[in-house]
Amino acid sequence: MSGIQQKVVVITGASSGIGEATAMHLARHGARVVVGARRTDRLEKLVSAIRAGGGTAEYQAVDVTKREQVEALVRLAKAKFGRVDVVVNNAGIMPLSPLEALKVDEWDRMIDVNIKGLLYGIAAGMPVFKEQKAGHFVNVSSIGGHFVVPTAAVYCATKFAVRAISDGLRQESRDVRVTIISPGVVESELADTITDEGAKKAMDEFRANAIPPEAIARAILFAIEQPADVSVSEIIVRPTGGA
Ligand code: NDP
Repeated sequence: MSGIQQKVVVITGASSGIGEATAMHLARHGARVVVGARRTDRLEKLVSAIRAGGGTAEYQAVDVTKREQVEALVRLAKAKFGRVDVVVNNAGIMPLSPLEALKVDEWDRMIDVNIKGLLYGIAAGMPVFKEQKAGHFVNVSSIGGHFVVPTAAVYCATKFAVRAISDGLRQESRDVRVTIISPGVVESELADTITDEGAKKAMDEFRANAIPPEAIARAILFAIEQPADVSVSEIIVRPTGGA
């Protein structure tokens, strides 16, 4: 299957920001989207909006730190539409803080959501992709997967990990496409998870020059709609003149 029309796309973390904008954008271009996150009230509104625009969408509650819930989301897509073309591993959190603040619970959560959640997405999609002899993982990393800044050591480590896992997967795969999406600063709710006052203040300034999440949605569409023999390995999208 080539292009975007009728492709079945599973998206994690679609209740806000980049995931939500991507679901809207892909559905508007003819994809059938299956969205997951924990806030089902948001997902319900998103799916209603997509359907009101003539698109096709389903949703299910998913905590990506629970392997069986990620598998259930992919199973829902397969049951509804008979195939799964793309899994967008987008769910992520960013509670920044200096390491010496020892917010160990937040380190654990970032590792659980940003790394293990992504691995569970791969584990859920892989058997379907192998059976189909085709599939596409779109893994959302960050410019923080390219360099480290103070207060972001653990977050950046998780985003470096997303790029490492994705690159390994790409090298091992014959039929499966793998795309890393590395956004710069994007308008979203991501900074709301920061509890450290200093990091929050610094991030407010850093995020002043943000681009809308639709900019990332367009990059994801570009990667998906390429012909099957073309694999877009990574796209970095930054605000003009910013990080
Ligand atoms: P948002 O906070 O707006 O969106 C994050 C999404 O992840 C939400 O839908 C949230 O849904 C979901 N999520 C968080 N925890 C879980 C969980 N345990 N299980 C399932 N879903 C979860 O931020 P963004 O849209 O910005 O973030 C999307 C991705 O983009 C992240 O991976 C982020 O690291 C990355 N990114 C963002 C950048 C930015 O500047 N905004 C820059 C670079 C990368 P819910 O709470 O309902 O579960």
